[in-house]
Amino acid sequence: MSIKSKRDYILDCFRNNPGKELKLKEIDEMVKAEYLKDTGSTDIYTNRTVRDLPKRGFITELNGYIKKPKRGVYTLIYGKIPSIKKSPFSTLDKKKIKKRDHYKCQMCGIPETREEILAIDHIEPEDSGGKGEYNNGITLCGKCNNIKSNLKVTTFGKKMFEKYRKIMLKKGDSEIVDFLNEVLEIYKKYNRN
Ligand SMILES: [Zn+2]
Repeated sequence: MSIKSKRDYILDCFRNNPGKELKLKEIDEMVKAEYLKDTGSTDIYTNRTVRDLPKRGFITELNGYIKKPKRGVYTLIYGKIPSIKKSPFSTLDKKKIKKRDHYKCQMCGIPETREEILAIDHIEPEDSGGKGEYNNGITLCGKCNNIKSNLKVTTFGKKMFEKYRKIMLKKGDSEIVDFLNEVLEIYKKYNRN
């Protein structure tokens, strides 16, 4: 008998191979080899325990979590599980936003057609905590949406800044409001839309 549990052997295996994609069979072989050293036996079967690990979430002993990037492959990722909690728009809000924006892309102005279905995007990005709410939504075409997701300030668009400013005014974030005021002044100065 070994004083280490099956789980300990498996966790050790991940600990020794952080970030590496390990196949079920590889894990089983590595564990068997270690178990053999400790006990003289290979009578240990790991598959079921390994398969269960991704469901366990954050594993304190590993200071990370087990991800299953593809079938039969497991890997240790250090750190907390990234929050995938996004804030999408409801169907109703999407409809209302499009209507408010006159069914036109708010950056380039192209109208919605059967070929070009406009999308609703977050003005304050989701990653910064922007919510999928009416006031944080903007109607964009695919092209402008791509530009926006690259966050190139120079092509961000006056309307976007104006709407962002409105939201930040409400939020009372005076630093961003000051910044946006200056940006909008520059649009005025160069007579750009
Ligand atoms: Zn557009």
